[in-house]
Amino acid sequence: MSVYLDHAATSPPRREVLEAVWPYLTQVTGNPSSAHEVGRTARAGLDAARAAIADVLGARPGEVVLTSGGTEADNLAVTGIARADPRGRHLVVSAIEHPAVLETAKALQRDGFTVDVVGVDADGLLDLDALDAVLRPDTTLVSVMYANNEIGTVQPLAEIAARCRALGVPFHTDAVQAAGHLDLDVAALGVDALSASAHKFGGLRGAGFLWVRSAVPLEPVLHGGGQERGRRSGTTDVASAVGTAVALHLAAQARAQEVPRLTALRDRLIDGVLATVEGAALTGHRTRRLPGHASFTFAGVGGETVLAEVEAAGITCSSGSACAADSDDASHVLLATGLSADVARTAVRFTLGHGSGDADVDAVLAALPAAVAAARG
Ligand code: PLP
Repeated sequence: MSVYLDHAATSPPRREVLEAVWPYLTQVTGNPSSAHEVGRTARAGLDAARAAIADVLGARPGEVVLTSGGTEADNLAVTGIARADPRGRHLVVSAIEHPAVLETAKALQRDGFTVDVVGVDADGLLDLDALDAVLRPDTTLVSVMYANNEIGTVQPLAEIAARCRALGVPFHTDAVQAAGHLDLDVAALGVDALSASAHKFGGLRGAGFLWVRSAVPLEPVLHGGGQERGRRSGTTDVASAVGTAVALHLAAQARAQEVPRLTALRDRLIDGVLATVEGAALTGHRTRRLPGHASFTFAGVGGETVLAEVEAAGITCSSGSACAADSDDASHVLLATGLSADVARTAVRFTLGHGSGDADVDAVLAALPAAVAAARG
């Protein structure tokens, strides 16, 4: 039996997405910027996809910038908003952001921006007092992720947004892990910009979008032919955009059933692991976490060793973040929650998706105690 529990790294594209994309790869193959009939047909598909994405966000279609994924959306949000704001050169990010945000902030720092990094508590929740202490009327941008990829913790976006709004500071959220699972109504969230990546919610890899409130100026990062209303040059990938729209709608429609279903599976997994695996501890918040996200440390045993044992039992999971899988460094996220580097290196993450069910949880609960014991030697 093969069990895939690494949906936070990537989720397989949904069949409906592949079916919707196929005509745009084989028949509707024009450039959406071309004035002729073939181009206009592609443009119609692109317009419909953009409108469908905006619909899920409760936003205007023109506010959606299609990108090559979450990384590009984050780069465009942070750099584009920071550079377009004449009021100041001060950025605020959380300590547990994805490198797509953190490294972009560091790049701006090298260009003369001041960056304040706000910490989190042991559960991974943002320190709101620390945020208050660094926020200034001339802050150019605050960027705090909606939900964390490594520990699953969901941030109190409305509370952060209220603080930013009081000072007129634009607020961006990296919603790459939240999209497809949590509410994306941008008005309710109170954000000014939001990034998402299609392959995390059943769309195609290499596709995503940035939503930016129309009142927020954005300087492009990619310069060229002026596509995407001048905000992201390059021929827009219509097929990917269609796939993103279909995947986002399917996820939004299924959310009312999927959230309680995945939450129940997640809770059974967490409770079972904590009860049966010696030295297991949960990372992230116990309840304010992504529906399908269960992440642990296992005292005294390297995460990679546990992964190898678990994989031998037919279960695919991850040691935290796919992006950090090649690095020996302990996770910056776990260090920010106060764990030592030694404990942080024992992290293992199981993330469920739309295809996951009871059998997957059963398989982990059956294999993990022995796998961790074997890894301990
Ligand atoms: N932000 C977060 C929170 C992520 O988890 C990821 C990917 O894992 C990204 C950004 C980058 O997204 P993409 O893979 O589409 O570039």
